[in-house]
Amino acid sequence: MVSQIYTISVRTSSRTQLVDITRQVRELVRKSGIREGICVVYVPHTTAGVTINENADPSVREDIEDVLNRLVPPGRNYRHLEGNADSHVKSVMVGPSIDLIVTGGDILLGTWQGIFFCEFDGPRNRKVLVRVVGE
Ligand code: ZN
Repeated sequence: MVSQIYTISVRTSSRTQLVDITRQVRELVRKSGIREGICVVYVPHTTAGVTINENADPSVREDIEDVLNRLVPPGRNYRHLEGNADSHVKSVMVGPSIDLIVTGGDILLGTWQGIFFCEFDGPRNRKVLVRVVGE
């Protein structure tokens, strides 16, 4: 069994932003040399997350951002006084990690699927950890 860990740096440019990181994750899986296994993508932040969804039509990610902002609007009467309580809640809703199937030296995604880093308290410099395990 082989196991490799990598870091992707993401620079976000707005408070809420879904950033397509599919290409970077693919490149790291190829670099690992692992043909069959699992790839874990993990976000070590409390006001960001990672998810998989459609990357063909950019309006899908805009709709996701809009709905999350409507469900959990910023600047309301939250107990957390740092001013980013909504960002923490959105992070919980999206989650901190995804698991991907690695086969044939590549990640297995559906035709319309892409991997999105989800920023909820930007703009910031962020890290995404990628662990590839397999043979
Ligand atoms: Zn906070």
